[in-house]
Amino acid sequence: MNAQTALKSIIKNLFPETCAGCNNRLSHENLLCTDCMYSLPITDHHKIANNRFTNHFLGRVKIEKGAAYINFRKEGVVQELLHKLKYRGKFFIGVFLGKMAAEIVEDVDYFNDIDIIIPVPLHKVKESIRGYNQCEAFAKGLSEYSNIPYRVDILLKIKNTSSQTKKSRIERIENVEKSFFVTPDIDLNEKHILLVDDVVTTGATLEACALALKKIYPNVKISMYTIAIANE
Ligand SMILES: [Zn+2]
Repeated sequence: MNAQTALKSIIKNLFPETCAGCNNRLSHENLLCTDCMYSLPITDHHKIANNRFTNHFLGRVKIEKGAAYINFRKEGVVQELLHKLKYRGKFFIGVFLGKMAAEIVEDVDYFNDIDIIIPVPLHKVKESIRGYNQCEAFAKGLSEYSNIPYRVDILLKIKNTSSQTKKSRIERIENVEKSFFVTPDIDLNEKHILLVDDVVTTGATLEACALALKKIYPNVKISMYTIAIANE
């Protein structure tokens, strides 16, 4: 054991790493303990073309394929992971989830025809307050696993969206759509984009992003992948 490895092991014993899902001490696992790992409520959407995720977008915007990695839960491991990713500065949790989410869809070649991964953007003020965009963390993990590049300079959030709850669905979509800017003059001709978000609830944000992209690049193909899907 060299000095550096010895030092690392001393530090590890002084500050044992804990599981990001249940806060129990980890032995040799990375980030999540085996129990938490196996308790993740995987959706298996990627195995079914018409699933609960894609149903969200029927009649709203054409997508090639869509899936969420896990089902959202307001408690337990899922809540813990998403909370730490969004509010506790744990960017690496998003990267970790991205890699796991990429691995699970490998058997159906989910990424085989995807050219670019684009995360749903945050307004730059919000991003500087949070320190990063949690959707970018997920995109980074997917990208590292699949070797497909991700880009954060194509789709930008230009307006902080006010409370949407009192607006009609159409008003909401128009409002959200206007709040995104798509960089023109990038060669996206016939390209297949994978739009990624953290949690899909009504699908309004992803729908607006897809519509904003298709407005500037009408022949672009869009698929979607999120960390989680909420129960409605
Ligand atoms: Zn755990």
